[in-house]
Amino acid sequence: MECKNCGAEVGSEYRLCPYCRTEIDYGDKQPQNVVINNYYNSSPSQPVRETPPSSFQNPYPPYDPIKSDKSWTVTLLLALVFGFFGFHRFYVGKTATGVVYFFTYGIFGFGWIIDVINILSKNFTDKEGRKIK
Ligand SMILES: [Zn+2]
Repeated sequence: MECKNCGAEVGSEYRLCPYCRTEIDYGDKQPQNVVINNYYNSSPSQPVRETPPSSFQNPYPPYDPIKSDKSWTVTLLLALVFGFFGFHRFYVGKTATGVVYFFTYGIFGFGWIIDVINILSKNFTDKEGRKIK
């Protein structure tokens, strides 16, 4: 097809001459407009739900209302070594009494002895009242 304006050879896919931008008269041979509808090809936007792999393991143990997640061994060692300073109470979350212990040397040793006995008999509880075993 030849552009009637500038005489350039133009492919039949052009409606406008790429050189002079003149509309090309195809006469009867004007190609039909082909409407490509992508609507049905495009998938509807759905939120992608990411499922954890089967090997996924929750690093946090499930909440146990009875048994504390604090370590009994750590609590005992802290009580034995730093019990006068209330470190074992800080460890289990009993910060307020831990401060008291810190400034009173474990309530002059009595609180410390009672705590050690309770830890050894596994009756010592964390700040939520769960026994440390
Ligand atoms: Zn032209």
